[in-house]
Amino acid sequence: ATVLAGKVALVTGGSRGIGAAIAKRLAADGAAVALTYSASPDRAQEVVEEIVAAGGRALAILADSADAEAVRSAVAQTVKTFDRLDILVNNAGILSLGSLDEISLEYFDRAMAINVRAVFVASQAASPYLSEGGRIITIGSVVGDRAGFPGAGVYSATKAAVAGLTKGIARDLGPRGITVNNIQPGPTETDMNPADGPHVDMLKGLIALGRMGKDTEIASLAAYLASPEAAFITGASLTIDGGFLA
Ligand code: NDP
Repeated sequence: ATVLAGKVALVTGGSRGIGAAIAKRLAADGAAVALTYSASPDRAQEVVEEIVAAGGRALAILADSADAEAVRSAVAQTVKTFDRLDILVNNAGILSLGSLDEISLEYFDRAMAINVRAVFVASQAASPYLSEGGRIITIGSVVGDRAGFPGAGVYSATKAAVAGLTKGIARDLGPRGITVNNIQPGPTETDMNPADGPHVDMLKGLIALGRMGKDTEIASLAAYLASPEAAFITGASLTIDGGFLA
């Protein structure tokens, strides 16, 4: 497909899981794609090689989302390499579960830095480069709306925060014809939430379709939001959860 031909995308946390699936899908739709990674350089390089082998253009950038300056540099490097920026996907995120008694202050601060502050930093850095038709897409979570089970309090708070940030930024960028949306996946099979993980049976029992989502299914929604067809959707949190919230 060529629906994104001529466009340039930056996907944070594109080395694995949902971010890697989004990077590959946007590239398949015709975009040149930069992706950031922090701990998984080999996985990031594999994603780049897969995109290039399929005839696309891709670049992996080392950028820890907890480091605001690194996030800003990733935006700048994307523009320097591909000459423009049309689509920012804020995907990088960390999950740690634990009850109120167990969860650490360190995790609270780190989750806020990666799941929330980096979304603000990247969006602010990308904004000057985005033009009419530009897109900011953040990967929140369905737990921003419904924690669903014990132990998800801090993680849920980070995902509720990006839902609010999405609405606010959508108001700021709407006059420029740029849309800003938040995808809220339900449980999705990735390293973060492995298909053989300890919570899988519990999670499946909460999902109307009785199975977890696939990273490619989340990427399909991101591709739609990135496309010109989604021009009238902004400030929205779009749930894709197999009926977890139903
Ligand atoms: P994974 O743990 O499988 O992958 C996380 C990705 O984020 C990796 O590419 C990782 O890169 C990157 N990342 C993590 N920390 C940092 C950091 N400090 N700086 C830069 N990149 C970082 O997670 P998923 O693919 O499952 O999750 C992706 C997003 O989707 C997250 O925001 C998550 O909260 C959200 N989500 C996931 C759900 C699920 O069930 N899987 C459900 C709902 C939402 P590296 O290894 O190179 O550091």
